Amino acid sequence: MVEAAAAKLRKLLTELSKLRGRHTELVSVYIPAGYSIIDVINQIRNERGTAENIKSKSTRKNVVDALTKIEQHLKLYKSTPPHGLAVFCGNVAETEGVTDIKLWAIEPPEPLKVKMYWCDQQFELEPLQAMIAEKELYGLVVMDTQEATIGLLRGKSIQVLRRLESIVPGKTAKGGQSSVRFARVREGLVNDFYKEVAEQIRALMPAGVKGILLGGPGPSKEDFWRGDYLMTDIKNKVLGVQSVSYTDEAGLHELVERSKELLAEASVIREKTLLQRFFTELQKDSGLVTYGVQPVLSALEAGAVETLLVSEGLDWKAVELACGCGWSGKRYVRAAEVENQVCPNCGRIAGVIGQADIVDAFDDLAKKYGTSMEVVSTETREGGQLAALGGIAAILRYRYAKA
Ligand SMILES: [Zn+2]
Repeated sequence: MVEAAAAKLRKLLTELSKLRGRHTELVSVYIPAGYSIIDVINQIRNERGTAENIKSKSTRKNVVDALTKIEQHLKLYKSTPPHGLAVFCGNVAETEGVTDIKLWAIEPPEPLKVKMYWCDQQFELEPLQAMIAEKELYGLVVMDTQEATIGLLRGKSIQVLRRLESIVPGKTAKGGQSSVRFARVREGLVNDFYKEVAEQIRALMPAGVKGILLGGPGPSKEDFWRGDYLMTDIKNKVLGVQSVSYTDEAGLHELVERSKELLAEASVIREKTLLQRFFTELQKDSGLVTYGVQPVLSALEAGAVETLLVSEGLDWKAVELACGCGWSGKRYVRAAEVENQVCPNCGRIAGVIGQADIVDAFDDLAKKYGTSMEVVSTETREGGQLAALGGIAAILRYRYAKA
């Protein structure tokens, strides 16, 4: 899934996850790819029959209304969309006694595998959330001086990539050995082992990992992390260092378990790092960054953009315009200005023949030029600063002089 599509879905899911029904009256329906939509419509109709028996009058009305609305919506489809369909509907009014039945229909970016009908105080979003998480890849390393296991977290599944064992002896010298000499030899072996672990991490980590989690039982992980073993780009990806009891596959599971909050924060941290880089370059006036729709667009089309930063909810559209005088063209404008674009030819208001969200339009361009795109939350301090700059910025591959 492309970043922009994932970001859009993530944003929508975040909004949906905040909604609460006053009672058990929010309906979630999942239709898997390839499943008959007619069968689901029939099921919804049956469920409505059942819902007529709900005791509370207001809950009954809300559930029945939601099911009616879902049925009507499903009838708009000739067949189930290629990846299936998720529909969420219910009364989301915050005030008791007020009815505001809203419906969301999501055609997922990947084939849905679950079939579900669920009525609850909140929407059931897990299958879609898992879909976004699926593409997020994290590196895992658990280690001490004896053993190290390197793995990957892909969505929720943990994969072992390699297990390494050291020849480092225990901490105390055996009878007859000089303890000073023993300590020196041991230290050398530990050093060799850490180097090997670092080398294997470098060799095994896919370029797409969003971050690396490091853990282990004793002080080794810290020594390794603080020491000069990891290359800078890999070190920068380390999201955190955790204490875990094991250094084998069980340790990887424990590491993930203990890093849940960290992982949730990881995307925020990644955004922050990119934004800090952007603002540092901006301050230095290095010529390696640019911002604003037009400058970013021209840099993008010159293939000069390494990372495109777009504020979440950026209210711009890519519009295709045509005028009665024969002029036509494409512009990027604020959503509010779409309808009053002046024709440069005759000065009349040009007709809108097509419009797309700027995030989608930029995503197409980004793909074409191998640019990575990050949709940035506006809730962090740096994210707020980006929004204040106009919500669109770029970190450049090289100094690019605007034409
Ligand atoms: Zn005109």
